[in-house]
Amino acid sequence: MNLEAALGLIGEVPDFPEPGVLFRDLSPLFADGDGFATVVNALAETVDPDVELLAAVEARGFMLAAAVGYARGLGVVLVRKPGKLPAVAGRIDYALEYGTAALELPSGVTHPGARVAVVDDVLATGGTVAAACSLLDQAGAVVTGISVVLELAALDGRATLRDRKVHSLLTS
Ligand code: 5GP
Repeated sequence: MNLEAALGLIGEVPDFPEPGVLFRDLSPLFADGDGFATVVNALAETVDPDVELLAAVEARGFMLAAAVGYARGLGVVLVRKPGKLPAVAGRIDYALEYGTAALELPSGVTHPGARVAVVDDVLATGGTVAAACSLLDQAGAVVTGISVVLELAALDGRATLRDRKVHSLLTS
């Protein structure tokens, strides 16, 4: 399957999770073996050659980063919602497109100077990925770039991420 066809599997759900939000549903893409492999391979190509580690945002980012990590021979740091990690290196509270949230970085999984690429499914306002990047910054890691399947241009996540390098397979 070509990349355009694979990305065409992403669905649109009006008024989810709140009225007025058009939710992009990656479930049909994840459920299609060819489509998923095509997107994972394309995402893997966006990760710079000198990257040492991937960081993934819970939960759909975990799926993508695990597959990209396998394809590229890289490990994955799981950036998690609060209350899941036994030992936490840092926590950040941030605003979402709808509501607020927090993310935590596990202790002992990265080191100062480590070159880390962040992987997630959708870049909307950029708050989630910006929080993940800040956690990595605080831990002394070097965020080399951000790789997402879909970027929602109207929400201008790139402005939130300022000088960070963003790779998206699809802008909508
Ligand atoms: P942001 O923080 O950039 O506003 O939102 C991005 C986060 O919220 C991502 O982790 C993503 O999983 C989730 N998200 C926001 N909007 C959507 C959407 O339309 N579809 C999906 N699948 N996830 C979304």
